[in-house]
Amino acid sequence: MTRHECGGVFVFIGADADTGWVPAEIARDKNSYVLTGDDVVKARRWSDDRDPFLLESSMPGIFACGDVRLSPIKRVAAAVGEGSMAIAFVHQYLAHADAKDQRQARR
Ligand SMILES: Cc1cc2nc3c(=O)[nH]c(=O)nc-3n(C[C@H](O)[C@H](O)[C@H](O)COP(=O)(O)OP(=O)(O)OC[C@H]3O[C@@H](n4cnc5c(N)ncnc54)[C@H](O)[C@@H]3O)c2cc1C
Repeated sequence: MTRHECGGVFVFIGADADTGWVPAEIARDKNSYVLTGDDVVKARRWSDDRDPFLLESSMPGIFACGDVRLSPIKRVAAAVGEGSMAIAFVHQYLAHADAKDQRQARR
């Protein structure tokens, strides 16, 4: 046992990512946090011909936000902000997919 002089203690509990149910196609790090954006590319798990959106997982069109996403920011404000960003990315994803379908139909 060791003793440390300190003015206070911050107990940080309950921060595990419970992603055991997530399919293997969605890349996670060794601590089970979902990779998104550049982290997916760095892990060589991105397969589409465009770059992933900031909050897009390794499965195109599936987005992750908040604490479950690999990110150093674990705060309420970040989770809420990312939630609204994710919706904007969904709209961009659908517009991109629509344009791609139309290009393929013209061929
Ligand atoms: C001890 C502690 C203190 C903190 N203090 C602060 C603070 O002072 N200020 C601050 O800004 N942030 C604080 N945080 C961080 C903040 O709580 C998180 O950043 C924020 O709650 C993340 O929101 P979220 O929606 O991403 O995840 P969560 O709030 O964890 O919400 C995820 C929800 O999904 C549910 N869920 C999980 N798996 C499934 C499933 N398979 N099916 C259905 N539902 C599921 C969970 O039960 C949970 O309700 C603290 C965190 C901890 C642990």
